[in-house]
Amino acid sequence: MSRIPAAQQPLPARAGLAQTLEQLTLSASSLALLNHCPRLFRYIYLERLICPPANAFEHELERKQGQQFHRLVEWYSRGRAVEPRLASLDAEVRQWWQVFLTSPHAYPQGRVLTELPLWQRVEGFKLIARLDRLVIAPGSVHIVDWKTKRYRPPDSQLRNDWQVRLYPLLLCGVAELLPLESPFHPEQVELTFWYVQHPQHPFCLRYSAAAYEQDLAHLKATLTHLKQLQAQDFPMTAHTERCGSCLFRSRCYGLLPEGIPVAELLDWVWPSEALQLADSVRETESFSRLD
Ligand code: SF4
Repeated sequence: MSRIPAAQQPLPARAGLAQTLEQLTLSASSLALLNHCPRLFRYIYLERLICPPANAFEHELERKQGQQFHRLVEWYSRGRAVEPRLASLDAEVRQWWQVFLTSPHAYPQGRVLTELPLWQRVEGFKLIARLDRLVIAPGSVHIVDWKTKRYRPPDSQLRNDWQVRLYPLLLCGVAELLPLESPFHPEQVELTFWYVQHPQHPFCLRYSAAAYEQDLAHLKATLTHLKQLQAQDFPMTAHTERCGSCLFRSRCYGLLPEGIPVAELLDWVWPSEALQLADSVRETESFSRLD
């Protein structure tokens, strides 16, 4: 149930945001955060008020394990020796590596591009994606994304995930730059999210021209909405159940958060959409140089 607290007022105008919308590079993470709460989007991506989560250690370990696994696969894909590096890695990552070696992804058929950055302008906004792997084979352009988290969302949720929409969309936008042997069409694009903790249960999608048109229309509508939200000073979410554990609840509601029922006040937890924030901010900065 949505409640609009009395405290939900626009922020007073500030002398200047750290970034403007035009300077911002949008990614799947930032678009997901915009869905979650426009005000939180403003805090993080425009004002750049980044705070560590209360359970930072837990998230830091997850992040470090994910990074180690991604790096291992990258080394392997580039033909570098992986075995000498294993001893220094987290024990769980070493187990994941053994799972990876028994999967078909250890022996991709085709030309492999790894850690491939894509960027494109849409409606005046710069959009980016970084593909963990792209495998190009006759008649097939296959995006693969490694997932190391324990939770594997249901397919119904993943189909609406911004990564699922944005990766094939941006790939189609730069397809003429890819080293393809035959003319490109969106039906050649496949996408796989491979969950190392659920290796038998990947998420797989075959793209199409119709899906491309739909995703492009959805993206353009979201970007138009983003401009409207800016004109409204990025309102606080009406879903106050998202606020009880938000790191910025004191900033929105004051030290005595009258707008949030006491029962909904929880330990601070970073919203799941923002978990990749640190990485995406770094990613944004490096890709900006390509512009
Ligand atoms: S406290 Fe609520 S309204 Fe404020 S930033 Fe967090 S989620 Fe958004």
